[in-house]
Amino acid sequence: MKITDAHLTLAEVPLSDPFRSTWNPGNPEKKLFVTLVEVDTDDGVKGYGAACDSAQLLSGVWETQVKPLLIGRDVTETEAISTGLSNICLYAYRPWAIDVAVWDALGKYANLPIYKMLGGAQDKILAYASTGELKTPEERIEDAERFISEGFKMMKIRVHQDNVEDDLAEVEQIVKAVGNKIKIAVDANQGWFFVGKKAVNKWDYKTALYVAKRLEEMGIEWLEEPLYGYDYEGLAQLRQSVSINIAGGELNSQVHEYKEFLKHGCFDIYQVDTVLSAGILQSRKIAAMVEAENKIYTPHTWTHGMGLAAALQVAGSVTNCPFIEYCYDPPRWDYTIRDCMLTEPLKVDKDGYIHVPDGPGLGVEINHELIDKYTVRKM
Ligand SMILES: [Mg+2]
Repeated sequence: MKITDAHLTLAEVPLSDPFRSTWNPGNPEKKLFVTLVEVDTDDGVKGYGAACDSAQLLSGVWETQVKPLLIGRDVTETEAISTGLSNICLYAYRPWAIDVAVWDALGKYANLPIYKMLGGAQDKILAYASTGELKTPEERIEDAERFISEGFKMMKIRVHQDNVEDDLAEVEQIVKAVGNKIKIAVDANQGWFFVGKKAVNKWDYKTALYVAKRLEEMGIEWLEEPLYGYDYEGLAQLRQSVSINIAGGELNSQVHEYKEFLKHGCFDIYQVDTVLSAGILQSRKIAAMVEAENKIYTPHTWTHGMGLAAALQVAGSVTNCPFIEYCYDPPRWDYTIRDCMLTEPLKVDKDGYIHVPDGPGLGVEINHELIDKYTVRKM
């Protein structure tokens, strides 16, 4: 089955209530960006993949590099396509939704979900509720009670206050209130930085070590991104100095950067983002590299429903992914907002598991009506 054409669409879906992310303080998000890639084939099958707002960069190389890489090539040639996308990364960062679209087409061609083509290890995965806004401890405790009533066994809090003592006091208050009913992880988001309106409080090594030790005493499941994402030595030294699990890697790219993490021993938990870091094929390879070190692979998924759908297919194919990020911070980041580009949102069952979509390819359908309504650019 040969690829005959490829299309790029940028849709900007307005958010009625702006989302105040911890990672971009002072810049509430007013839109959800969907960069939708469509791959057409001579069989009539169409494959889809999507990331956030990389369309502007990709549009510059769409005619000159992306189309020549794809058109006329058989959809089974995923290795050549992944290698070609690695080269395109030199010009337009994060082209991995293209790899996902090819795999979606390939799965539809084979009439199999992607996870069954790559290992078929698990058809459901424990989801953890991943929150993204700064809230008061009281609001967070209310959120936790809601997550518990909905079946979640684990949640993640992002901390980002000016003084880490405020972060720690808040986490302590939440642990005291609900720590016996739900596991709690903490994300410091120090791995990368937005240059926003408000300066970000960057942690040095001593701060990261202090916070890790305090969270360890509180019984926190893991500390995520305590230092800059390319500080391999610092991360490794930190991990060796504490017993709390250290997690990270969400925006690092491709097999070679994860090789560096593994070589240094930076993390216990590796959080490759399928649509931002590596695509389906390289994510599966990274998961195997992580498995060889007897560590946990679990994808970062904070993009939107198409990012989660791609991550679920890789996560379902491996044995070392015991849980997965379910980005969920109602009311401003509900699954109806996150998955608005899908005809059906991806939900968690009463026991806190998310089921890997079992249809061919990604196993999800695009909500074309919504994409058409909010399209700002199409190629
Ligand atoms: Mg994170």
